Amino acid sequence: MAQLIDGKGISAQVKERIRQETAEFVKQTGITPGLAVVIVGNNSASRVYVNNKKKACEAVGFRSEEYALPEETTQQELLDLVDKLNRDEAIHGILVQLPLPKQISEDRVIEAISPDKDVDAFHASNVGKIMQGEYRFLPCTPAGVMELLHASGISPAGKECVVVGRSNIVGKPMAMLLLHENGTVTICHSRTKELAEVTRRAEILVAAVGKAKFITADMVRPGAVVIDVGMNRDENGKLCGDVDFDPVAEVASAITPVPGGVGPMTIAMLMQNTLTAAKAQAECR
Ligand code: NDP
Repeated sequence: MAQLIDGKGISAQVKERIRQETAEFVKQTGITPGLAVVIVGNNSASRVYVNNKKKACEAVGFRSEEYALPEETTQQELLDLVDKLNRDEAIHGILVQLPLPKQISEDRVIEAISPDKDVDAFHASNVGKIMQGEYRFLPCTPAGVMELLHASGISPAGKECVVVGRSNIVGKPMAMLLLHENGTVTICHSRTKELAEVTRRAEILVAAVGKAKFITADMVRPGAVVIDVGMNRDENGKLCGDVDFDPVAEVASAITPVPGGVGPMTIAMLMQNTLTAAKAQAECR
C-alpha cells in the first residue's frame, strides 16, 4: 500500500510558516498583506474556492477583500475594477476567479492585472519568467505539487516524470517546474497515442486531466509516485480526483488523496505569493 502524501497536514505547516513570516513583516513595516479576490457570476465551485481563499487569508493574518460581481458584468466593468485594484496600495495581490462568464475575455482580464500583483502567475510576463526559471511568483497548483514532493523527500532529479494534461494553469507550468528540478519530463494530452505506455514509464506521474478516475492501476508503474491534481465529481456526486485511488494505491509507492492532497497546497501557495508580492511592493515604496 502506498504512502499517503498528506496535503492537508503539509499545507497547514506551510501556512503556519507564512503566518509567522507575516507577523514579522507587519511588525517591521506596518503593512498588512492584502489580497483582492474577484468573483463574477454564480458558479458554485468558484464560490467554494473563493470562500476557502478568504479563510486562508484570515488564518495567516492577511486582509482580504472580496468583490462579487453579477453574471451580466461587462468586460469593461471588470477591467475598470482591475484597474482600480492595480492602483490600490493596500492591495498587494489580485485574483480573478476563473472561469468568467462568456462575454468576458479571460485573456484580456489576466493581461490587465499588474504583473506585480498577479499572484496566480497567469500574466504573460510571469509565465515567461517561469519558463526562464526566474520566478517572481510560482504558479500555485504546480508549486503546491513541488512542495508536496519536497516535504515527502521525493526529488524529480534524473527521474522519468510524466504530466497528463497541458493546460496553461496546471500541465505546462507543472512540466516546467519538474524540468527545472532536473526531471526528464513528458507531457501527455488528448492526442497522445498509447497513453498507458507513456504513463507506465513514469517514476513521478502527475494527473491533471479533469476526468474522474481516469488513471487506472494498469497505467501506473509499480513504485511510482502519483500526484492527483484532478477535482471532479463521481457518479454519486462525491469529490474525486483523476486517479482511481484504491487500485492505484496498491501499485504506487506514494500517492496524494482527493480531497486533502493538492487542493489545500494550491491555496497555501497563493498565500505565499501574496506575501511575496507585499514584500516586493514594500521595497519599492
Ligand atoms: P483543462 O481542461 O484545461 O485541461 C485538461 C487537460 O487534460 C488538457 O490538456 C487535455 O488535453 C487533457 N486531456 C483530456 N482528455 C484526455 C485524455 N483522454 N487523455 C490525455 N489527456 C487528456 O483542465 P485544468 O488543467 O484546468 O485542470 C485539470 C484538473 O485539475 C481538473 O479536474 C481541475 O478541476 C483540477 N484543478 C485542480 C486544482 C487544485 O487546486 N487541486 C487547481 C486547478 C485545476 P488537450 O489539451 O489535448 O485537450
